[in-house]
Amino acid sequence: MTDFERLRADLPTALWIDGNRTDPIDGGTFPVHDPATGTVLAQVADAGGKDALRALDSAVAVQDTWARTAPRERSAILRTAWEKVTAHTEDFALLITREMGKALPESRAEVRYGAEFLRWFSEEAVRIHGRYGVSPSGAGRIAVTKSAVGPTLAITPWNFPLAMGTRKIGPALAAGCTVIVKPAEDTPLTMLLLAEIFAESGLPAGVLSVLPASDAASVTDPLLADSRLRKVTFTGSTRVGKILLGRAAENILRTSMELGGNAPFLVFGDADIDAAVAGAMAAKMRNGGEACTAANRILVDNSVRDEFTEKLTERIAALTVGPGSTPGTEVGPLVNAAQRDRVAALVEDAVTAGARIRTGGAPIDGPGYFFQPTVLDEVPPHARMVKEEIFGPVAAIIGFDTEREAIDLANDTEFGLAAYLYTRDLDRALRVSDAIESGMVGVNRGIVSDVAAPFGGIKHSGLGSEGGSEGIEEYLNTKYIGFA
Ligand code: ADP
Repeated sequence: MTDFERLRADLPTALWIDGNRTDPIDGGTFPVHDPATGTVLAQVADAGGKDALRALDSAVAVQDTWARTAPRERSAILRTAWEKVTAHTEDFALLITREMGKALPESRAEVRYGAEFLRWFSEEAVRIHGRYGVSPSGAGRIAVTKSAVGPTLAITPWNFPLAMGTRKIGPALAAGCTVIVKPAEDTPLTMLLLAEIFAESGLPAGVLSVLPASDAASVTDPLLADSRLRKVTFTGSTRVGKILLGRAAENILRTSMELGGNAPFLVFGDADIDAAVAGAMAAKMRNGGEACTAANRILVDNSVRDEFTEKLTERIAALTVGPGSTPGTEVGPLVNAAQRDRVAALVEDAVTAGARIRTGGAPIDGPGYFFQPTVLDEVPPHARMVKEEIFGPVAAIIGFDTEREAIDLANDTEFGLAAYLYTRDLDRALRVSDAIESGMVGVNRGIVSDVAAPFGGIKHSGLGSEGGSEGIEEYLNTKYIGFA
């Protein structure tokens, strides 16, 4: 028996409602594929609108009790869940690799990162504060209290099947909210396993439900239209985020939106080039490029562009591509055929527009959805990949001559999630960090994600923050109580 066959023997594939594996009312299932082979990994229960309302009924039934549960108790459950996820790192990592494709070491890193949100928010659960003060006139007292927003719908993407869930579930549970998760249809297995770990950790039935669905809107629309739901938190494309904001407006829901990115990665002439190459490898190739924080446009001072491009090309050309679970693999397949074809079309478009291929440039034949790790230089401004998220292992290099030009290029996008800059000049680092329109800036580092920092974007990249001390605020209402 392989490790995965052993894991699959008792893999949860039913809906998770009210603390139980539950069959959908309509009885349907849908297949989940292994992107390394294209074969079916599992048939998963397919939720519909009636199942969604069952999950909401169970959430509403326990919402008040959960919100009034002692913060220390909520904290202890999150802490136990962190311990259990960590103890099951290998199972989660294997599952993530098999349903999403990324290389096993990357999946292990995701499990560590994803679990960390449970530990972090177990610590935040007992630090929910208000304030108390005298009004300026001296005539009254102002008390400010915080309380749970209420039943929350969390819609998650496939690129980090665990971490994008825990980054929402952690703060929501810490704040006292019940949560219904609609995981991505490509990767629902990880979230179903997490729900069972939460139950084993002592989470009461109804507080967390998981509803995989082949048709996302058939589950989410009835929830968004129900006035008992009070919040929607979403990570995914800007296109879907706009639809959800429209639906949320009808019901005046609290919203958190982590949407698309188009991160600039700036390398100035005074940068430590080897460090910049290492940072670009992380910013570009982490998760096979399938990250909203991925360096989408690598902007390099023309005085160092040849050296940087040569060194980056050497590193990217040497990457080992293969099934994520094969030892030694550094880059796995893309998540599905549509993503691989999208990346291929973006590369073809850039080359037609005048970009030069330094390495890679094409899909890899055979089973699975592989694409060669690619470096493109001299990508012209009208290439589609300059405006759109690549979401694949393709580095797009663009030259600049002045700091002003670099900042203008960096900001010439509707997105504003992450940005990176490499320089040895502290004044420049501060100046450029201030001038860049984005929610996060990495200075001389290629990865910004940190459980203790607020993750979030501006412009079309979204609303709100996840992680840090800011993350829990997204799940808390503020109340002012005036005393005479
Ligand atoms: P990606 O482009 O990364 O696949 P999507 O925005 O399409 O991102 O998907 C992110 C999540 O949003 C997934 O869970 C998906 O099922 C869900 N989703 C897609 N379309 C809708 C919709 N119309 N309403 C609600 N959720 C949706």
